[in-house]
Amino acid sequence: MSTRLYEHDIFLEHRTPEGHPERADRLRSLAIALQHPNFDKLDRKKAPQANEDAVLLAHPEEHLRAVMREIPEDDEIRQIEADTYVGPKSLQAALTGIGAAMAAVDDVFTGAADNVFVAARPPGHHAEKTKAMGFCLFNNAAIAARHAQQTYGVERVAIVDWDVHHGNGTQDIFWDDPSVLFCSTHQMPLYPWTGARDETGIKNNIVNAPLEANSASEHFRDAFKTRVLPALENFRPDFLIISAGFDAHHRDPLAQINLVGDDFDWATGRLMEIAGKYSGNRLISLLEGGYDLEGLAESAGLHICRLMKG
Ligand SMILES: [Zn+2]
Repeated sequence: MSTRLYEHDIFLEHRTPEGHPERADRLRSLAIALQHPNFDKLDRKKAPQANEDAVLLAHPEEHLRAVMREIPEDDEIRQIEADTYVGPKSLQAALTGIGAAMAAVDDVFTGAADNVFVAARPPGHHAEKTKAMGFCLFNNAAIAARHAQQTYGVERVAIVDWDVHHGNGTQDIFWDDPSVLFCSTHQMPLYPWTGARDETGIKNNIVNAPLEANSASEHFRDAFKTRVLPALENFRPDFLIISAGFDAHHRDPLAQINLVGDDFDWATGRLMEIAGKYSGNRLISLLEGGYDLEGLAESAGLHICRLMKG
């Protein structure tokens, strides 16, 4: 497989307060892991910045304006929600994350790459239509799905979110849109306190597979085999997006799920099989959470390795 990676130094300049788990060191730690010779063939590209209009693919203009109003002009870091912060470069970073996600879509539909990983921050899956929350400003995965539909006429997009927190934002955006299947495995109860099995969207296009605290590999894989993969088989996606959070790793400080690096390799393999069967291998993966530097580097590294190997 030819695998492309989008990265950019601007992602390091989205600042959060000292001690905040969503910090620039996350990407530094991943970048060090990706220096290994295993990744020599990775096609590394500098992420392009999207126009502000791209936000409107998944959010109303009032949300874009609300976030823009909060961006400080001086060197301060401003709290815009319980645990979401912006600094002077945060809009630029967020738009570059969106630009990379959209370029990743372009790459897999033009054949420039088989699959793509976007190593961006801030993350996106908690951002609802009209609300920045949970470290997220705009929903990158949702914008990528809409871009694929609008630009390439894609009918069915599947978004699989294995971040340990429920992707409430993505669920909110696609709740009444059966052209998008959203599948999520996550710890429950846990922030953002949504993601129950009976939250199904208006056309059963939302598939939640909550995991109890202290669940481990077998529970995660079982949720994948019994809930996520059958839903994907049934949906037959034309295109697959992974909301790739790595905070279900056993080392992660924000949750109590005990996955190991191998589980991310395994889940990546299963989703690549689905992409091979229905989507012409077209798959992109967007970094969401993952707050233990070692756990993130290990699991994201194995995930990207699997993307490259097929
Ligand atoms: Zn998370």
